[in-house]
Amino acid sequence: MLVDVLSVARGKACECICPACQTPLIARHCKEGHESHFAHDPAFKDEQQYKECELSYPVALRLMLKQIINTTSSLTLPDYTLRYYKTQEPIIVTKAQTLSRPQFDVELEKKGFDAVVKIEGHSLAIFIKYEGRTHIPEIH
Ligand SMILES: [Zn+2]
Repeated sequence: MLVDVLSVARGKACECICPACQTPLIARHCKEGHESHFAHDPAFKDEQQYKECELSYPVALRLMLKQIINTTSSLTLPDYTLRYYKTQEPIIVTKAQTLSRPQFDVELEKKGFDAVVKIEGHSLAIFIKYEGRTHIPEIH
């Protein structure tokens, strides 16, 4: 579970680990002018080789989005229409609406997608794309 740095105890007492490399973290609660943040615990520097840690800003955002979509009680969809590539006919993907559980259900990490949202017997597959994310699931 991802947590806000200010929601946990200061220092090693936070008992948090890095979501990317699993190295224990230190919560640094900073004063004005400095942003509070987590840092890898230097005591594990050699053991974990965290210099290779791949937790980037987009990866952190993806983890946060997945946590939110998996735990949210309501889901707001936009009006979203695609055009079928062969005929250019419009295909309605979603209609603008707000759903509450159990009108929808979420499964994370399914078939290469970050999340699959089940709505009224239909599946809405979500893939969070950003530069550097090379694996893109195939759509059948
Ligand atoms: Zn790390």
